[in-house]
Amino acid sequence: MLIKDHEPLGPKTTMRIGGTARYFADLETKQDVEEAYAFAQEKKVPLVVLGAGANTIFADGTINALVVRVKGDDIEIDGNSIRVQTGKNLAILINECAEDGLDLSALTGIPGTVGGAIVGNAGQGPKGTWLDSFVVNVTAFVDGEWKTFSKEECEFAYRESTFKRQSTINHQPSTIIWEAILNAPQGKPEEIKSTIQELLKKRMKAQPHAKTSGSCFKAANGTPAWELIEKAGLRDLKIGGVHISEKHANFLINEDGSFEDVAKIIEEVQTKVPELKEVEMRLIGEDGQPTT
Ligand SMILES: Cc1cc2nc3c(=O)[nH]c(=O)nc-3n(C[C@H](O)[C@H](O)[C@H](O)COP(=O)(O)OP(=O)(O)OC[C@H]3O[C@@H](n4cnc5c(N)ncnc54)[C@H](O)[C@@H]3O)c2cc1C
Repeated sequence: MLIKDHEPLGPKTTMRIGGTARYFADLETKQDVEEAYAFAQEKKVPLVVLGAGANTIFADGTINALVVRVKGDDIEIDGNSIRVQTGKNLAILINECAEDGLDLSALTGIPGTVGGAIVGNAGQGPKGTWLDSFVVNVTAFVDGEWKTFSKEECEFAYRESTFKRQSTINHQPSTIIWEAILNAPQGKPEEIKSTIQELLKKRMKAQPHAKTSGSCFKAANGTPAWELIEKAGLRDLKIGGVHISEKHANFLINEDGSFEDVAKIIEEVQTKVPELKEVEMRLIGEDGQPTT
């Protein structure tokens, strides 16, 4: 495993904001995972895990941590069962499964990796299908040991899992999820592919194609955040180089902004719409700890 010093993080996220990682490594094997954990322990720095950075924004300075990006992306299909390493790009997984007549099409259009999707129980809104409906179990390296979590132990809920909760509550974002077993229903490859195309078309219409991390706030008691933001008249809100998307009021768009601009815009929205208590994006401060 190669540890890099002061690696730029902005380009590794879809929002394109962030400074540098004091230490950075790509994890290709289980041995890399173990070495990364030992390195962070030895240097006494937090271990911050990154997938494709579609839901993560880093502070602008030096993140005093070991930031690791999970790159293992092997996949093995056996009947309805899919064993997949969590660095796998979700869109590629969905397409490969479609070729084999396995239907994960409900997760179409969600950027990022399987790991990120497990942590945030990615899905199509509060009433849609979430990743947990396909999960059998998840294997992760936790506090220096390998552990397999049953679906129940993952404690999935709307945009939540035990992995996300632990990192926020204990400020210990150090669990590295390495592999998952999913179970997908069978279907005809042509039909699955056509559903994927339909869902992608819908997304293209409804969502901006810009530097963004997707939805900023969680729905509040089932009411979509965009609806509350629109009602509060915040559609035109812009702070520094970050503004609310004209196309989707729960998306923040980065023009040439900073971490501070993002933090201020979140604060402003929460002041005007107190129901939006929970931020969906993961903001990581210079101390390597989540700020949301
Ligand atoms: C345009 C756009 C549209 C979006 N639409 C949706 C949507 O419809 N539904 C939805 O749910 N989300 C959506 N998102 C958000 C994002 O796609 C998901 O949250 C996605 O699952 C993030 O995956 P990632 O690999 O990029 O995670 P990252 O942003 O890299 O990481 C997210 C969190 O997961 C943790 N993590 C990632 N991989 C691992 C791992 N292997 N082990 C341990 N922890 C890990 C990180 O530490 C971090 O806390 C959208 C984002 C964008 C930019």
